[in-house]
Parts: sequence; structure tokens; C-alpha cells
Amino acid sequence: MFAMNDAGVLTRRRFLGWSQAALAAVGASGFLASSQQALATVDNAGAADDYYEKLGVAKIINAAGTYTFLTAAVMPPQVQRAVARAALHPVVLNELLTASGEYIARRLRCEGALVTSGASGALTLATAACICSANGAKPEQIPEGVAEMKNEVIVQKAHRYEYDHAMLLCGVRIVEVVTVDDYKRAFSPKTIMTNFFNSAEAGEIDRQTWLDIAHQHSVPCHMDAAADMPPIENLWKYTGMGYDLVCFSGGKGIRGPQNAGLLLGRKHLTDLAATNDSPISDAVGRGMKVAKEQIVGMVAAVDWLLEQNDAQDEAEYTRRTETIIRAVKDIPTMKTDIFTPEIANRVPHLFLAYDPQAVGITPKQVQERLRTQRPRIELNPATGSAGRFGPHSNENTIVVATWMLQPGEAEIVGRHLHDVLSHPHA
Ligand SMILES: *Cc1c(COP(=O)(O)O)cnc(C)c1O
Repeated sequence: MFAMNDAGVLTRRRFLGWSQAALAAVGASGFLASSQQALATVDNAGAADDYYEKLGVAKIINAAGTYTFLTAAVMPPQVQRAVARAALHPVVLNELLTASGEYIARRLRCEGALVTSGASGALTLATAACICSANGAKPEQIPEGVAEMKNEVIVQKAHRYEYDHAMLLCGVRIVEVVTVDDYKRAFSPKTIMTNFFNSAEAGEIDRQTWLDIAHQHSVPCHMDAAADMPPIENLWKYTGMGYDLVCFSGGKGIRGPQNAGLLLGRKHLTDLAATNDSPISDAVGRGMKVAKEQIVGMVAAVDWLLEQNDAQDEAEYTRRTETIIRAVKDIPTMKTDIFTPEIANRVPHLFLAYDPQAVGITPKQVQERLRTQRPRIELNPATGSAGRFGPHSNENTIVVATWMLQPGEAEIVGRHLHDVLSHPHA
């Protein structure tokens, strides 16, 4: 069932039930007094100050999707509880990093894993690992010494993207290719890795050919699959194909902490990635620290995810789109359409197309009205523009993603959309 997602916010009673059980598990030791104190503090979480309110920051209804600027996903209650519990005690950071990596690698069927500060941090650490592997270099040589080393990363021209920054900060040079022949010619004694942007729709070279040719040259391949979950099986599909390193964002479809992510792949490379990571200070990854709470949250999110079911999730997201369709279907000229992208954000998206002249308000104006009302609703950024959804969106469409909505919110989004569309001049 979808119960976990839809369980909503953590209630005080559930927290109490959990903490009493935890207290019993702690048993009688000198530890007890401080644990009791700490747990009492967590018990009061439900009654804690609402800092969003205190700071005057509006909570949003996320009808947009897992956008980083909208703080991406909300962690499921079981992950929130694991994070709160991890906050109660200090540990040795490296022991936690190692143990969490081994646990995740087992659960996600790969040799090695590292909890990173996000997919972007994972890409930096992957690059640093490949530099160390190819050159026998030390982490402290990155980036200053890299100009003198093997330092080339091969990328398809169509896969150049904003996250190239994550590689470039290690001091590497990107070598662009277009055709398979370009690609074969691009390998040189200085090549250290290749990067494949999994959800890029363009590019002549497919992911299997890309991998095969790199491996013929004994060069490791990194894949950026940051937003490519669901389906759940993607978490082992690409490492299973032979990609040496694959990164995922922790706070998008996996619903872990937003500032966490996963680097999965060959153990010797994930181990080298760890040597370039916090807590080591003389390393490129020092600023990519992941706190104990987020490391544990990432592990708990993987556990949570492996209990989910793609088909049931999709049915629930579709039910929410149908709720919204029912709410707006009587708006003049309204045509509705549901589209599921092939790779990233592979969930049903709702497209509401209408004639703004007939209705009296444009999709961009609707988006702005929903933003200024309370509760504040954020529609998908492709609303009112020809964006990433190809023929499905244009200046006359409202785009809604339903997968980040919380229980009861599809009804609210439907109602507010109907109100704004039927009172365009309110
Ligand atoms: C979101 C995203 C990232 C960055 O992920 P973080 O976890 O926020 O660091 C990197 N690459 C792609 C393709 C993404 O969609």
C-alpha cells in the first residue's frame, strides 16, 4: 500500500511509542540518564517551535516535482524517525561512512557504495577517485597538481550540462565528442574517465555502446542517474550493466535527506572516493560533508524504498491526477493529458491545456496567483512554456506533477486551480 507515503507528518503519539520502546532497549546502564534526557527532548519535537512560521517562510504544496530549489522530496515518517534518532548520539564519522556504504552496497547489489552530499558531490568524488586511480595521485594534489597529470574526461557534446562544474572543480579537462568515431579517437594516454548523462535526450551514442568502447580502453565510466528513480530497479540496473560508478540524488525520488546522495559502483573506486571526502580536510570533498543524521537518513531511505512498489506508487500518482482533472474539467476549452517521461522523473505528469483568451487568465498568471495565495501552491516550472516536456507543454498549458503531494493536497490543488480559472479577475 501507499500507507507509508500517505501517513503524513509524524504524530506525537507515534514518537512517544517509538521512544518508549527505544528506552526499553537501552536498558539499565549509566547511559540511561542521558538517553532519557535526550529522548525526552525528541518527544517534544511535535511541540517544538515551528521555525518556518517563526522565520516567516511559507510552507508550500509541491505540485512541481523533485526540484532542488523547492527542497525536493519530503522524507517519509520512517526516515524522519531514523534521522531524529541518529541525532541523539555522536559516533566516529568514518565508522558510520564505512558501515553505511557496506550496507547500501549489499542492499543495492553493487560492490561499493558511499553516502555523499548529493549527486553533485558524488560526481566530484567520482572524478577525484578516477584521477587517483589513473595517476596513483594523492587527494591533496587535487586540483592544483592535476594539470600535470592524466586529466581528461570524455563526454558527448549533447551531455554537457550544468553539473560539469562538479567534475571541473577537480582540475580536469573535458573532451567533447559527437560521433562514435570521434569517441574512439578521443581516448588518449591522458583519459581518466567518461561521464554519461543518463536522462539526456540527445546524443548519438547509446549507453551500452558508450560503456563498451570505454572498457575496450580500460577507462572507467561514470553515469549520472541523479533523478532516474523510479523505477526502483535503476538502483542496480546501471551498475549491473557494468558502469563503474553511478550517482543518484538522495533527496529526489529516493526521498532521503535533500543534502545526501549515493555513489555506487566498483569498490576500489568508491574507496578512493572516500579518501577524497570529508572528514579529510586536505581533500576536494571536505566541503561536501554529510552529517551523521543525513548518512543514517540515506540508509533509512534506501530501506524504505525497497519496501515500495512502482506499480502501486504510479496508481496513486494517477489517482491524484484524476482528482485534479475532475476539479477543472468544466473550465471552458479545457483539455487534459497525462504524460510520463521516459527516464528522469518517470512519473505521470498532468497537462491542462486551455485557451487563455476564452478563460481570461494565462497559465503563467495562474502559477503566480497560486504562489501568492495561502496555502502556497507551486506548479511545475514548465507551466506556460515550451519546456522539457516536448509537445506536451506550451504557453497554453498548466503542468502539475502529483508525486510530491502529501495526503489531501491533490484535492486542495484541484480546488484552488478551479477557483483561479473560474474567477480570473479576482
Ligand atoms: C538533481 C541532479 C543533480 C544534482 O543532485 P543533488 O543530489 O542535488 O546534488 C545532478 N545531476 C542531475 C542530472 C540531476 O538531475
